[in-house]
Amino acid sequence: MTFSLAIVGRPNVGKSTLFNRLVGKRLALVDDQPGVTRDLREGAARLGDLRFTVIDTAGLEEATDESLQGRMRKLTERAVDMADICLFMIDARTGVTPTDEVFADILRKRSKHVILAANKAEGSAADGGVIEAYGLGLGEPIRLSAEHGEGLNDLYSVLMPLA
Ligand code: GDP
Ligand code: MG
Repeated sequence: MTFSLAIVGRPNVGKSTLFNRLVGKRLALVDDQPGVTRDLREGAARLGDLRFTVIDTAGLEEATDESLQGRMRKLTERAVDMADICLFMIDARTGVTPTDEVFADILRKRSKHVILAANKAEGSAADGGVIEAYGLGLGEPIRLSAEHGEGLNDLYSVLMPLA
């Protein structure tokens, strides 16, 4: 049994860093697949004995005429619909922003399995942001440091029963 996990969240929270850590070199570029744009990147993830497909979302970084909120909604909905589980990432050093609140709102309404991750959580500078994350109404946040590889054991514990 395997599953797919979409990593969503506003730009710069560390989504691609986690994606790269989970995928290593096992990257499948999906650019040329019909219906999938370069805004979504898919890879074969490994976490302990778990094997799953991970989807990274990008494409919110570029400035276009369309509003960030509109693009966020579309991209997030597409990623969430593609995946069995959604990992919603915030930056624990910055804390919860209004943009994070918009994402949380989309995800709560989408009624898929959502895992909340407070990234950049290495060290005590992140404690306030982790506490704020509880207020998003998406359950208990997992403390992660994608860059330093911390909290992956907690991510494993949450994913393992879903596999
Ligand atoms: P994305 O836009 O959400 O995909 O974010 P990126 O993965 O590109 O990361 C944005 C920035 O955050 C980069 O400079 C990363 O090095 C940094 N970053 C990612 N994860 C962590 C982390 O766990 N701790 C810290 N301090 N920085 C991180
Ligand atoms: Mg990225």
